[in-house]
Amino acid sequence: QAKNNGRNCYVVFNEKMSSDLAARLQLEVELRQAISQQQFSLSLQPQVDLRSGRLFGFEALLRWQHPTRGLVPPDEFISVLEQTQLIVDVGYWVFERSCQRYLDLMGLGLHDVIIAVNVAADQFLQPDFALRLADILQKYQLSASHFELELTESTLVSHVSQTLDAMHQLKLMGFRFAIDDFGTGYSSLNYIKQMPVDTIKIDKSFVMAMLESSSDYQIIVSTIAMVQKLGLQVVAEGVESLAHLQLLQQYHCDLAQGYYLSRPIPETQLADFVREQVLQQNWPAALLRRPE
Ligand code: C2E
Ligand code: MG
Ligand code: MG
Ligand code: MG
Repeated sequence: QAKNNGRNCYVVFNEKMSSDLAARLQLEVELRQAISQQQFSLSLQPQVDLRSGRLFGFEALLRWQHPTRGLVPPDEFISVLEQTQLIVDVGYWVFERSCQRYLDLMGLGLHDVIIAVNVAADQFLQPDFALRLADILQKYQLSASHFELELTESTLVSHVSQTLDAMHQLKLMGFRFAIDDFGTGYSSLNYIKQMPVDTIKIDKSFVMAMLESSSDYQIIVSTIAMVQKLGLQVVAEGVESLAHLQLLQQYHCDLAQGYYLSRPIPETQLADFVREQVLQQNWPAALLRRPE
């Protein structure tokens, strides 16, 4: 009887495994097509400087328009891109596309904003990463100082010396660095202070919970204070309401990003957003009512 059960379990397990594997392989095939058939695009989400009340820059976020499934969220496909190394080519595509959008911004008269680009560990660790970025910048005649590279804590702690070398090289070229999703990984500020980092992005899970959870609230308040003591800039992600924003302003958080301020903007709508909202000063001033 036991043996029989065991065999049934074995069979079920196997079927589940092979259907997972089939789905993964299917996704992989579709992602390769996505590259060749230009199904990827960027959305750009504004970051607001809470001191000046002005646009600081945009984070570039990858979007996949699947031919039948519609828009697929990054959380469903970035990990497959990472596992298959496709993230390396897609990552360069994202950087190049960000350069094109930066030229649009300059054409509209915005010269002092930045575009932040997410970089996966495997891409960052490519020996020619810096060279490839330099080539792309050269092609568009753009300076590295317009761009911030977002790395996660796990990227930083996985290959420490290699990562540090690459960071120093890219820093010399003029790139800014941000630590993304801060607080969800294993790094400490003590460790990060040895790296040429400009910005810490507090993970949205803390921000989204801070109104209900006193521990998340305390993490936010103390992270802001510590980051600023280290002379770095702090960004709060996931700002979904005025209440979030006012608390962050009260604790002198430098920058904010989130749905309350703006959803990520499809790249085809970026120029309209800049013309109608940013340049007309309709945005973000009205959203930044200071707490009394
Ligand atoms: P991330 O880098 O932490 O990006 C921020 C995510 O938070 C984005 O999700 C954004 O749409 C979302 N978000 C922004 N404001 C709010 C808010 O107020 N509330 C909520 N609930 N969410 C908010 P998205 O675009 O789905 O991207 C998810 C993740 O996928 C990114 O997290 C990043 O880790 C990864 N990703 C996206 N684009 C790229 C890329 O080009 N390259 C790489 N390597 N990873 C990328
Ligand atoms: Mg990011
Ligand atoms: Mg993040
Ligand atoms: Mg993330």
